[in-house]
Amino acid sequence: MRILYVEDEKYLAEAVIHLLKKEKINVDWAADGEEGLELALKPNYDVIVLDIMLPKLSGLDILQTVRGRGIKTPIIMLSALNEVEDKIKGLDYGADDYLAKPFKTAELIARLRALVRRPALAEVEKLEYEDLKLDLTNRTLNGSELTDKEAGIMEMLMRTPGSAITKEQILAHVWGLDSEFEENYVEVYVSYLRKKLKSLKSKVQIKTIRNLGYKLCLES
Ligand code: CA
Repeated sequence: MRILYVEDEKYLAEAVIHLLKKEKINVDWAADGEEGLELALKPNYDVIVLDIMLPKLSGLDILQTVRGRGIKTPIIMLSALNEVEDKIKGLDYGADDYLAKPFKTAELIARLRALVRRPALAEVEKLEYEDLKLDLTNRTLNGSELTDKEAGIMEMLMRTPGSAITKEQILAHVWGLDSEFEENYVEVYVSYLRKKLKSLKSKVQIKTIRNLGYKLCLES
């Protein structure tokens, strides 16, 4: 399990991370809201743990932006006991759970495990970007069928159209973390997708970002 932990109180964060690591939970730590949001938009995490009171951007701002982009990663909000209003707002904005500070790390671990076990909701999933419509329930792009892998890659690209996705992230997400497949599998499927976009006469293209990966953009 890999989580993103956004917390500005350094000593608290260090203590919690130490205990999470003992439980084999990998943690990326962000110390302010801006860095937290940047990481939260990447498709790297099983759960995001967000403190509400943060410098630069609040946890609620991050939550709203993340959900606004259609990212469904489970989110646990953290806040002081007296911030009841924040708790209600957080749940309204699509947080999955809430933990009052101070909390026991064991309690956080239990909540994390519960969220990761929770099966994904079978909901209608449609993503749109420019002239593209991806329907994940029947795996079609503008009505044209995609394979599993093509749909998986397209989903990642369309969830964060402005930012690059690495081949490593694609491998982990589409083929699975323990996969023995190579990065050139990703290249092959991206080339299939490019052909598909061409045959659909889409204005969108998959741009290669050297030494990094891919992103969606409009034909220039
Ligand atoms: Ca704080």
